[in-house]
Amino acid sequence: MSALILDGRAMAARVLDEVAGEVARRLEGGRSRPLLAAVLVGDDPASETYVRGKRRDSERVGIASSDHRLPASASTQDVLGKVADLNADDAVSGILVQLPLPRQVDAARVIEAIDPDWDVDGLTPYSQGRLLLGEPLLVPCTPLGIMRMLDEAGVELAGRRAVVAGRSNLVGKPIALLLLGRNATVTLAHSRTADLGAVTREADVLVVAVGQPGMVRAEMVKPGATVIDVGVNRVEGKLVGDVGGDVVEVAGRLSPSPGGVGPMTRAMLVRNTLLAEQLRKP
Ligand code: NDP
Repeated sequence: MSALILDGRAMAARVLDEVAGEVARRLEGGRSRPLLAAVLVGDDPASETYVRGKRRDSERVGIASSDHRLPASASTQDVLGKVADLNADDAVSGILVQLPLPRQVDAARVIEAIDPDWDVDGLTPYSQGRLLLGEPLLVPCTPLGIMRMLDEAGVELAGRRAVVAGRSNLVGKPIALLLLGRNATVTLAHSRTADLGAVTREADVLVVAVGQPGMVRAEMVKPGATVIDVGVNRVEGKLVGDVGGDVVEVAGRLSPSPGGVGPMTRAMLVRNTLLAEQLRKP
């Protein structure tokens, strides 16, 4: 039997409709239009594509967006200066610094400089600390999108075994904390995990965010498990996930990549922009 495919595009469209409805209500109530400010350093083609997609989503829900471009040669001070300007701009609802930054820029310092109230990517130490304390406010968009997918699909979490492969601050750690917050029993695996297959086979819910094309194969998956493929890898010009094509035959539900977590991540960015605006201007 083949897994039920979780349709990230359809779910993302519902999230965007919800956000659009709420933005429209706020505008009718005389509130200002939320504004998402994106800082883009250099001209990385993948980043350009992401930022274009974000602009499109913002437009669709009635959120304004502004792009702030710096040359690839920009220094840490240059980027910090731009972030400081945006922090001081009351018209801004959310600040997004597009990663990766060029090597000479201290990305940790830049992220830390974002005012936590504007932190729509949920990457500042404050936002991540709140998540660790079990009191999340602005949560990174990919893990947030995954939780929404699991909820929409009616996946039981309390008391279930969840395994997360990958421990980045962007995906692995925050999704592990969110799953823990929903009372799953969580294992966080990484490149030094011994016998990864034995660990992943325990999972009722398996989230794979390793950046290794097709690494998780059918024999690493418990029959009937819910599998979320976060990976986005370019192989011979094609985008593929971290989960192999045979997993669909074993899993109970599968969020494929592309077409799963990606659209949800983008939808959650506009949702976080609205949330940041609501928190500051209730
Ligand atoms: P990182 O490179 O920051 O982290 C990768 C993690 O995977 C690390 O913790 C690493 O372990 C672990 N890992 C690498 N190889 C193995 C292995 N063979 N076995 C077990 N663990 C391994 O990546 P990100 O978390 O930023 O992204 C992961 C993937 O998700 C990428 O493909 C990325 O493109 C994609 N992504 C997709 C998004 C979307 O919107 N769809 C959003 C964000 C990411 P260690 O810590 O030990 O090095």
